[in-house]
Amino acid sequence: MDDCIFCKIARKEMGRLVYDDETVAAFDDLNPQAPTHVLIIPKKHIEKLAVMSPDDAQLMGHILEVANSIAAERSIATMGYRVVVNNGRAAGQSVDHVHFHLLGGRALGWPPG
Ligand code: 5GP
Ligand code: ZN
Repeated sequence: MDDCIFCKIARKEMGRLVYDDETVAAFDDLNPQAPTHVLIIPKKHIEKLAVMSPDDAQLMGHILEVANSIAAERSIATMGYRVVVNNGRAAGQSVDHVHFHLLGGRALGWPPG
């Protein structure tokens, strides 16, 4: 997707990646909501969680592994962290390329707003 901002970040045309492999990229959120707020995305353009295909299951699982390793790297694993996917506008999705928010470094309220 030529005009997708997260595809551009994944292709390293803008921003800075904090994690990069063949299928997954991660970068710090522009507007962090916690001391650690990293976005982890598949390099493949998938519009939202709801439209992932069965073929994407391993890729999405890999994203969760990457979330765990970034949490360990940032030393937030012991205190606890949250991984969130907003699916659709009412849930707060504002960028139409599926992304997993990794949030931590402070106590997080529940339920979310
Ligand atoms: P959503 O609201 O779709 O779940 O999350 C989108 C997230 O992307 C927001 O937290 C927002 O701050 C972040 N974001 C939007 N545009 C950019 C950008 O150009 N660079 C980075 N690093 N984050 C972005
Ligand atoms: Zn995209």
